[in-house]
Amino acid sequence: MIMSAIRFKAIEETFNRQPVFVKEKKKRSDLYENNVFNEFSMRESMSKAAFNSVMDAIECGTKIDRKIADQIAAGMKNWALSKGATHYTHWFQPLTGATAEKHDAFFEPIGNGRAMEKFDGSQLVQQEPDASSFPNGGIRNTFEARGYTAWDPTSPAFIYGTTLCIPTVFVAYTGEALDYKAPLLRALQAVDHAATAVAKYFDKTVSKVNATLGWEQEYFLVDKALAYSRPDIVLAGRTLLGHSPAKGQQLDDHYFGSIPIRVMNFMRDLEQECMLLGVPVKTRHNEVAPNQFELAPIFEEANLAVDHNALLMDVMEKVADRHYFRVLFHEKPFAGINGSGKHNNWSLATNTGVNLLSPGTTPMKNLQFLTFFINTIKAVHENEALIRGAVASASNDHRLGANEAPPAIISVFIGEQLTKVLDELEGVSTGKLSPQEKTDLKLNVVGKIPDVLLDNTDRNRTSPFAFTGNKFELRAVGSKTNCAHPMTILNTIVAKQLIEFKEEVDILVDKKKLKKDEAIFNVLREYIKSSKKIRFEGDGYSESWEKEAAKRGLSNNKTTPEALKAMISKKAIALFEEMKVMSKIELEARHEIELEEYTKRIQIEGRVLGDIARNHVIPTAIQYQNTLIENVKGIKEVFGKEYTRFASEQIEMITQISNHIAEINSKITAMTEERKKSNQIEKQQLKAEAYCNKVKPYFEEIRYHCDKLELQIDDALWPLTKYRELLFTK
Ligand code: ADP
Ligand code: MG
Repeated sequence: MIMSAIRFKAIEETFNRQPVFVKEKKKRSDLYENNVFNEFSMRESMSKAAFNSVMDAIECGTKIDRKIADQIAAGMKNWALSKGATHYTHWFQPLTGATAEKHDAFFEPIGNGRAMEKFDGSQLVQQEPDASSFPNGGIRNTFEARGYTAWDPTSPAFIYGTTLCIPTVFVAYTGEALDYKAPLLRALQAVDHAATAVAKYFDKTVSKVNATLGWEQEYFLVDKALAYSRPDIVLAGRTLLGHSPAKGQQLDDHYFGSIPIRVMNFMRDLEQECMLLGVPVKTRHNEVAPNQFELAPIFEEANLAVDHNALLMDVMEKVADRHYFRVLFHEKPFAGINGSGKHNNWSLATNTGVNLLSPGTTPMKNLQFLTFFINTIKAVHENEALIRGAVASASNDHRLGANEAPPAIISVFIGEQLTKVLDELEGVSTGKLSPQEKTDLKLNVVGKIPDVLLDNTDRNRTSPFAFTGNKFELRAVGSKTNCAHPMTILNTIVAKQLIEFKEEVDILVDKKKLKKDEAIFNVLREYIKSSKKIRFEGDGYSESWEKEAAKRGLSNNKTTPEALKAMISKKAIALFEEMKVMSKIELEARHEIELEEYTKRIQIEGRVLGDIARNHVIPTAIQYQNTLIENVKGIKEVFGKEYTRFASEQIEMITQISNHIAEINSKITAMTEERKKSNQIEKQQLKAEAYCNKVKPYFEEIRYHCDKLELQIDDALWPLTKYRELLFTK
């Protein structure tokens, strides 16, 4: 019997791989930002006036004059040409989730058989990509307006390959954002203003606050040939069937284990590319599941960090390809083993170099820490459903609310020590504090925080939003998700919270004549009390937490169509409009797009599963069943009437196979019917719900029978590369 041709060939190809050996000729620090138009290259390649104008735009958001833009473009062009670039592109992040680029050559004929390289201010500042094929949620239809990309000087241009990439935002002519970046930039501005005003209570010289983001990217690597042998991986980015291997991750022998040589070569190659592009990658290791890995950079200003993550994902795919790997960013590529996330470590930093979520050396600095710490908790408390909505997607639903870290319930973990601090603060008296109370606070509560945090080692791995010493870690973000969206939401809700906080403190100072620190303590005390229900220190997976959370009134939206509703609630619209981050139209458009995306993903998965089950699994099952039938016939020939004594097990197997085939086939028919019905539904919300509740449940049922067949059928016949091969072939 011959093993299924595609599977066999793929495995053979994998065995014959020669690792691509990656040389490192230069120190990483010598490569760093070589292909980035950073401050240093800008200073070298443009006039002082042009340079200052870019710096003002970066630091204060001032507009760049058209003439100056020409000078900047000339400098950028010369720098790019000196690095071998031939093309330029406006690089942007439309709502497809991927990055977009359309390359134009610098080259232009100038007559008489001659040509030159051209690039001027207008090409730098604005472009009009034919954007009709990007998702817009009806915005452009409503306004009959075209979209354009506009240069974002706060993220430096870079060269990838031979193309100068200029980070841009993508907006409709009527001003609505058509991408992830425009709302992010608005949210970052909102949090800057709000946080700066509050930080001034503690240090008058603070003039700007940047949100910081350090993401941790998890991913799987699968050999390219093996990945291509699986139609589900190719078309859906994950396996839709496949029986668990006899050995999975139960031995925990992969986590932090030694990195396989082929993978190491890929990582080194990738890291060198990252250095050139200025992505400050720092950490690499094996993750929990076999063939799962993680990469993390040093944190950066949030806008840049978002760009760097989007860029990284793109570069990873390209580098993986030359190492004969396929990267899987899907949150749950394999059933039964760990999925992938993208922890978003977040904090706020002042232009004076202070991390506002890091306790300082004086009680006043610690009061500053407590202020930002407690306000963040309060912001999450008020907007937990929004945070869940911000990370909702068809693929992330496999993690959130599906017995995988973290749960769909958003809660905040702060650790035992800080819980004690907040408990003590809760007892602070209302109004003026007595001198004794002030001294106590200074010495015993606020004064003790740095020591408390030093040995704060109790980390809770099941919490979706955990404080980890000097930053919060939002762990609910999916590995595939663009960080911009969750960062937009988080920074917006914190901005709103800080504005409210400042108003309340100012009232106590002006009207009640409290001292500033007394007023701050008073407001914080009330926040601690009113935001208690969001704090949870226990096991986020436990059933008891689900019950407890329900009692507390926390939302527990397990599916994307449910979770997304929070994004267009009255409260959310009011919040985003007030913070000038997104308008009602933009929110509703995004909501439509996300629902549509959800529906399409499930639709594609349903089709792929149907095809594989009918075209691969059932024919193979029939083939094997025929072998069994032949066998029974032979036994009958030999033993005559007594044949059942020798063929009963085979007959049982034949029956089982028939049953599985019948189940698979009828379930596919039923699923297809549900799809047809769902497709008739006009309203996106209802359509997504139908796909979620009527179509998707068939996946597990169909898969169950396919996986049973995989266990029964001759391995040499099975056409689909098995989990043990996908996960353990190196
Ligand atoms: P782990 O979660 O793996 O235990 P670490 O404490 O080492 O990790 O940090 C994880 C990530 O947190 C790193 O990528 C780092 O860049 C990021 N990080 C550290 N400090 C900050 C900060 N102030 N703001 C944002 N991210 C930060
Ligand atoms: Mg982490």
